[in-house]
Amino acid sequence: MGFVYREVRMLSDSGKPHSIDITVEPHMGMRGRCSRCQRPAPGYDRLPQRQWLFVPLWGIPTYFRYAPRRLQCADHGVVVEFIPWSDGKRPVTYAMMGFLALWARRLSWRETARAFHTSWEAVYRSVEWFVEWGLGHRQLDEVRSIGVDEIHWGRGQRADNYLTVIYQIDTYCRRLLWVGQRRSQATLRRGLKALGPEVVRGLRFVCSDMWKPYLQVLAAKVGHALHVLDRFHIASHLNQAVDQVRRAETTRLRAASQKAAQHLKHMRWSLLRRGSRVRGRARQKLNALLASKLATARAWELKEVFSHFWHYKSVIWAGGFLDYWCSRAMRSRLEPMKRVARMLRSHEPLLLNWFRAKGELSSGPVEGLNNKIRVVTRRSYGFRTYKAMEMALYHTLGRLPEPESTHKFC
Ligand SMILES: [Zn+2]
Repeated sequence: MGFVYREVRMLSDSGKPHSIDITVEPHMGMRGRCSRCQRPAPGYDRLPQRQWLFVPLWGIPTYFRYAPRRLQCADHGVVVEFIPWSDGKRPVTYAMMGFLALWARRLSWRETARAFHTSWEAVYRSVEWFVEWGLGHRQLDEVRSIGVDEIHWGRGQRADNYLTVIYQIDTYCRRLLWVGQRRSQATLRRGLKALGPEVVRGLRFVCSDMWKPYLQVLAAKVGHALHVLDRFHIASHLNQAVDQVRRAETTRLRAASQKAAQHLKHMRWSLLRRGSRVRGRARQKLNALLASKLATARAWELKEVFSHFWHYKSVIWAGGFLDYWCSRAMRSRLEPMKRVARMLRSHEPLLLNWFRAKGELSSGPVEGLNNKIRVVTRRSYGFRTYKAMEMALYHTLGRLPEPESTHKFC
């Protein structure tokens, strides 16, 4: 594209190479192109030489050196020429930005910076460029099902410690579509707006937790889609209730006698797992606990029984089971279980939508994507800025299209 390498020099300090300089020159007789319209234009003058960081060669930091021309464009006046390896603003080549961005998916940003002798800032800017390009070029016309969720990050319980995420959960594509700070109605409204009215209009299924602000916004903005309560969230509400019963009972029993409390010791994980997955010694302990008639045992049983709900094929039978389960839970005298029962009852239509959407939605993707988000937020915890983490999330979970490697000027 009108440029040639003129000279490659390795610079060293007492025998140790510390950088490679590649000097670039305009191709003889070829006019530069205007950086605004990309049309060839006659030369005006030459700017001083600048350098751009290129992909390291043999592990040695490598730079392009070039003195950009200024041109006299018929339409745009005196302008700096178009430079194919850089956008002109950053002292890093596209090739290096792509290189750093790809490594930043595997390593933490700090490790990436250290491995390639550059700054954390350079890695951040590279990922940002990569992500912005990807967001600008991604296709959203096939989005039919979304999952909406809230995720806690960092330390503390302030409003800013929550993220609202919107995933695409279609079987043919699962990815992060949008992430925003906080978990309010305003946040979700902002997210839906960012996806655009056409994407929202095309939605057939929306999956979410029973978080009230979300339910209200979804009813108002995506009322045409079938709104399904996510199975994974209901399981986690049940688990939390069992855990509350266990903790309260442990405290009570410890106060009374050490021996009775033995039943509940180290039982947390067995109680939270699905019953069929508890085996071996853990199973024996669980059986002993169930025989004990402790409140925790009754709570656990209620949780286990609820799993039958998901196996129904007919909405009517599922509704019948839900009534049965809720009245049993209401008679259990276990306040946390009663609370879940009340919550399920008040969301019955949304719960039963799961059966209307059956076969079209699975409950796995939201949980799986949440787990991946946790890996990234933890890895980027050291960043502390929200913006950096947002970039990291789009970068690893957005399945964004990637800019072509832009090393095509010779
Ligand atoms: Zn021009």
